[in-house]
Amino acid sequence: MQLKSDEIAGIIKRQIKNYSDKTVETETGHVIEVGDGIAKATGLENCMSNELIEFENGEMAMAMNLDEETVSLCVLGSDKGIREGSTVKRTGRVVEVGVGEELIGRVVDALGKPIDGKGDINTSHTRPIECKAPGIIERKAVSVPLQTGIKAIDSMIPIGRGQRELIIGDRQTGKTVIATDTIINQRGQGVICIYVAIGQKSSTVANIVDTFEKNGAMDYTIVVSATASDSAPLQYIAPYSGCAMAEYFMYQGKDVLIVYDDLSKHAVAYRAMSLLIRRPPGREAYPGDVFYLHSRLLERAARISPEAGGGSITALPIIETQEGDVSAYIPTNVISITDGQIFLETELFHSGVMPAVNPGISVSRVGGNAQIKAMKKISSTLKLMYSQYRELASFAQFGSDLDDDTKTRLAQGERIVEILKQDRNKPVPVELQVVIIYACVNDLLMDVDVEKIAGFEEFLFENVRNNYADIIKNISETKELSKETEERIKEAVSDSKKKFAAVR
Ligand code: ATP
Ligand code: MG
Repeated sequence: MQLKSDEIAGIIKRQIKNYSDKTVETETGHVIEVGDGIAKATGLENCMSNELIEFENGEMAMAMNLDEETVSLCVLGSDKGIREGSTVKRTGRVVEVGVGEELIGRVVDALGKPIDGKGDINTSHTRPIECKAPGIIERKAVSVPLQTGIKAIDSMIPIGRGQRELIIGDRQTGKTVIATDTIINQRGQGVICIYVAIGQKSSTVANIVDTFEKNGAMDYTIVVSATASDSAPLQYIAPYSGCAMAEYFMYQGKDVLIVYDDLSKHAVAYRAMSLLIRRPPGREAYPGDVFYLHSRLLERAARISPEAGGGSITALPIIETQEGDVSAYIPTNVISITDGQIFLETELFHSGVMPAVNPGISVSRVGGNAQIKAMKKISSTLKLMYSQYRELASFAQFGSDLDDDTKTRLAQGERIVEILKQDRNKPVPVELQVVIIYACVNDLLMDVDVEKIAGFEEFLFENVRNNYADIIKNISETKELSKETEERIKEAVSDSKKKFAAVR
């Protein structure tokens, strides 16, 4: 390698000028190449992987490729003020973020700096953004439900605390709404929520923060945002930063819910970075370690044993597919890492079934363990009836003369579809979900017109809240569906039907 002699002389002169007899252990090098947010530096022999490197102008970078003579640095900001020949300094620290209660209710960037204009955040603790996931010994089985407040999910695809459940679907199918509604539903549940926005428009993130504020969800939520206009390295580290914040709470024994919206854009940012630092491209031009990129992130979601702290991190990663193609590279990777997926379909969405969950191919590998007993009791019937309906519906549309049994099943199915529809920002507590699903699978709604089901449901909920509060109390205390409660639900439904018919 050739160095200009006057440059070397310049550096020596500068070093002599800045000489002080204090011994500080730092190592400096200088930039030999810079562009596209990537800088190459020499002279950082002892640099660690992922180490934070400081430029002359105060800009920070992360060490990515450690080659024999040079180090590739990803600039965590703008590379505008960095020149060839300017000095770089090792900090001796790996990239870390501030963590703690101070962050709750705030919107921060990928490095934990506030971007909501509400003043500085002085966190008392920091954590490295990359951290080893808890091992087998430290973990505990997932058994406590995390209620999303979404009927279709809590009944058929239940999520437990410590689980990783993928939300996957094409663009504009309601993926974000499912995640944000789940956050909104955690009000009063003792769950701290972290929403990580990766590569989205700033306006979208602003809207989401607005929704959170309107629903009082910012009281227990942190928003980490690396928007599309942020550099690729910032988008790349955002989910790890969010996860570090979550881990801090988990090791204190708290339950955390973290949403990564979305990991497709995360993979794209990582691909851009990897190509610029000249890592060899593989399938779809992603680097070879793109699986590890997501597996090491999602493995950090866990429910840990009381000895290790006793908290949990539930992760809801989001993946966007193209034309429903789940067999593309990134979707298959993330499907294989997570403990199940919620699959959203454009056709369902456009036909007005919202949330557009396809229960046929959506699964939760934790299953009934993450449901309260009352829900477990009725959900298997619901799933069975629903899948039978979908089978029948697909060929019933061709035939005109159907036998009575088929007609009944179709009528049941139509009512199931109707009760599983849900508007955005309208979480339903699990006790009321049990009431409506119980009514539906026990054919108590057969004499309500399909078009009126939604209206009736609202009426029923209101009636139960006001006049049958013992049902809610009973289910929430015992978590079970006793014979007496079942009778009470039947009473409530028939009473509501009478009153409903009177007002309509
Ligand atoms: P993108 O691919 O742009 O990120 P997305 O899949 O995250 O989209 P959302 O932004 O969640 O989709 O939703 C798309 C639109 O559908 C939004 O305007 C939202 O208000 C609407 N929507 C989603 N779910 C529902 C629902 N359950 N009820 C009514 N409207 C809904
Ligand atoms: Mg979205």
